[in-house]
This record gives sequence, structure tokens and C-alpha cells, in this order.
Amino acid sequence: MTSGNPKRQIILELVQVVSFIDLTPHMRRITVMSNGLIGLQGLIPGIHLKLLIPQPGQEKPILPVFDAEGQPLPPPEHGLPSVRTYTVRSFVPETGELAIDFVLHGDEGPASAWATTVQIGSYLGIALRGGIPYRQADWYLLAGDQTALPAISAILEQLPASANGLAFVEISDATEEQALYYKANIALHWLHRNGIEAGRSTILEEAIRSAPIPEGRSDVRFIWVATESSATKRIRDYLRMRYQLAHHELHAAAYWKLGMNEDTYQEMRHRGSEQ
Ligand SMILES: Cc1cc2nc3c(=O)[nH]c(=O)nc-3n(C[C@H](O)[C@H](O)[C@H](O)COP(=O)(O)OP(=O)(O)OC[C@H]3O[C@@H](n4cnc5c(N)ncnc54)[C@H](O)[C@@H]3O)c2cc1C
Repeated sequence: MTSGNPKRQIILELVQVVSFIDLTPHMRRITVMSNGLIGLQGLIPGIHLKLLIPQPGQEKPILPVFDAEGQPLPPPEHGLPSVRTYTVRSFVPETGELAIDFVLHGDEGPASAWATTVQIGSYLGIALRGGIPYRQADWYLLAGDQTALPAISAILEQLPASANGLAFVEISDATEEQALYYKANIALHWLHRNGIEAGRSTILEEAIRSAPIPEGRSDVRFIWVATESSATKRIRDYLRMRYQLAHHELHAAAYWKLGMNEDTYQEMRHRGSEQ
């Protein structure tokens, strides 16, 4: 169903798991579908979506309800879903099947816990708007940790053969590497933390600092970075200072924050105490 303010066209769906597979020891692909997704156009892999995860003990998440003008009705006081941000890894309009790749980082967070115990038929809410996952350029740097791998993989698949550049993906070790298929001339480097905890390594920043980023070609380069919040900030500051990047040349996103769940982190950002 399409809900909310008609100008913003939020797609809000109750979906069910149709399959799941472990791509690597800590990355699980979960495919969901609903009849409401069949035939949807413009849902491009690599864009983000919100997951509405049922509370423990609930079969289905409680989804927002909108009035005829598209305004949200007051939600119930209890039992609201946990909301987490993920990436559309792939989408098949003909079948309405949408795949999401989850980093399994333990059962502390509701999303990782849900993914770890998922079953065929499990329910989930999804909410998303359209969008495009990257900007057209001739030279690309795509860099991130494992949470960014779904977006990096999707972008790589969409880049034309004429695109050049580099990709850095930080993972725990060689067992987390995936086979990625793409036609662009992008050199992919897997960076192994080798025993360092996720969110505590500087390996991605070091790789970016020594990357041969073309200078003075502001019309054609595009740098996409997504990783843990502190690392994103350090990398963003470095790139802006070192290359004097224009706004449109850099997309640097904090995908999670070490030691803080997504709700608390988002609250902190909205209060303005963290960029
Ligand atoms: C635009 C966007 C797209 C994203 N796409 C994806 C995606 O496709 N796949 C994906 O796996 N993640 C993705 N993420 C990251 C994901 O939203 C966060 O990892 C989120 O915190 C997971 O929710 P949770 O309920 O499992 O943990 P939370 O309840 O948010 O956090 C619980 C604890 O786990 C820690 N934590 C959170 N994530 C990780 C992690 N990856 N490794 C180690 N510790 C962690 C937190 O610091 C906290 O201490 C994306 C984030 C954004 C902003």
C-alpha cells in the first residue's frame, strides 16, 4: 500500500519472509514479499528502507495507520515496532520479492536478533520512498564496512563498464568476503580487521588516506562512504579538508554507532549533539 502524504509517496507494506540464506558466517540474506510490492517501479537496489520489526511475542508488527488525507492516526501506546534502517539489496517487480542483507552482530539489537531467528513466513513491516543510490560520475570511490556492503554491491552492479575507481570493504576476515559481479572498472579491496572489533578499526580510514583519488576533476568524481559513526566523521573531515570536495562529490553516512542503539543515536542526532 502507498500511504502518508501523497506528495512524498511512502510505500508501507506488511511483508513475509519467503527465503533466507547465509552468504557468509555473519551476513544473512532475507527475501521478503507481498502482493502490494508486485509491479512497483523505481525501487532501485541500494536505496535504504525502514524495517518495522515486531516486538518479541508479536506475530506481526503494528503498522502506522493513515486517515483519508494521508495524516497518521495516533499510534497505540504499547507494542510499537522497533524501527531500523537497512538497504534494498535487490528487488524483482514481477514477483514483489525484495532482498535485504543483514549483518548478524548478535542478539542485543532487535534487527540482528530478528534476522538471527527468522523463519519462512515471519512478518516484517517495510517503509520506503524511492530515490537513487549514487550520483553519476566517471571516477568512484565506494567505501564502507559490512553494513555498507549491500549498498556497495548494488551500486557496483548498476555502474556502467565505462566507470573507473576503487572500492574498499571492511570486514572481519576472509570468511566474510563475497563474490561480487559487475562490469565497471572498479578495483575491489577487502580490508580485514583480523581480530579488531567492528567499529574500533581504523583500517578503512587508512585505506582511504592512501587511495589515489583524482584531484581537480570536481565534475566527474564521486565518493560514497558509509560505516560506523566515528569512522565516518573522521573520513568525511579528512576528505573534505584534503580534497576540498564540493557537496555533490561526497556522500558520507553514519550507518551505526558503536555502543548505542539506532533509536538513541537518532535521538541524539535530532537534538543536534552529533552530526
Ligand atoms: C542508510 C542505512 C542503510 C543500512 N543498511 C544496512 C544493511 O543493508 N545491512 C545491515 O546489516 N546494516 C545496515 N545498516 C546498519 C544498521 O541500521 C545498524 O547496524 C543497526 O544499528 C542495526 O540494528 P540492530 O537492531 O541490530 O542494533 P541496534 O539496536 O541499533 O544496536 C544494538 C547494539 O549493537 C551495536 N551494533 C549495531 N550495528 C552493529 C554492527 N553492524 N556491528 C556491530 N555492532 C553493531 C550498536 O552499537 C549497539 O550497541 C544501515 C544503516 C543505514 C543508516
